[in-house]
Amino acid sequence: MYLKRLEIQGFKSLADKTELYFNPGITAVVGPNGSGKSNISDAIRWVLGEQSAKILRGAKMEDVIFSGSDKRKPVGMAEVTLTLDNSTGIFPVEYSEVTVTRRVFRSGESEFFINKTPCRLKDIHELFMDTGIGKEGYSIIGQGKIDEILSSKSEDRRLIIEEAAGIVKYKNRKLQAVRKLEDTEQNMVRINDIIAELE
Ligand code: ATP
Repeated sequence: MYLKRLEIQGFKSLADKTELYFNPGITAVVGPNGSGKSNISDAIRWVLGEQSAKILRGAKMEDVIFSGSDKRKPVGMAEVTLTLDNSTGIFPVEYSEVTVTRRVFRSGESEFFINKTPCRLKDIHELFMDTGIGKEGYSIIGQGKIDEILSSKSEDRRLIIEEAAGIVKYKNRKLQAVRKLEDTEQNMVRINDIIAELE
């Protein structure tokens, strides 16, 4: 599995449509300080579902939208599309490529797509769960991340191992099922109260 293509428009300093193609092997992005190298990895984090403006080095989510420069007016929308190879079938879709797209408007409204079909952020999180790619994955190692992992509590470190072992999806499903059971139990108590009142 590898990243094939990244399309960015209106995201941070990348106002114009920018397309990056990644071939198998190593790709290095080089450029002077402040030229936008980290903005590219921010775009990848963002399209994978990052919701923390702080992790994206901003104060609020709309800060990812190009805010203008000496020569250009601000734009109203940021859009990023990431294409991943799915020839090994790691993603549960029948296509050999998977594209995920995220848009945000100045109004704060967001849109998400998987293979051009509108979806929820939750669907994007689920798609990447247990692949190591998602926003909680270990495929993006930012500055200070290694230190953070080494010095983190053993329970926090376990989350990374669980993601690699592919059990996060099942843990999440179990949590949802337990919540449903609790709701159902509450409903049963209420129904029994009503029955007792009627009798
Ligand atoms: P360094 O090598 O110093 O880490 P870099 O190449 O990684 O730098 P980035 O941090 O990716 O650079 O880019 C910083 C640039 O992006 C700054 O010039 C900043 O003004 C610009 N920038 C960030 N957010 C926006 C935005 N919303 N609109 C316009 N420009 C932005």
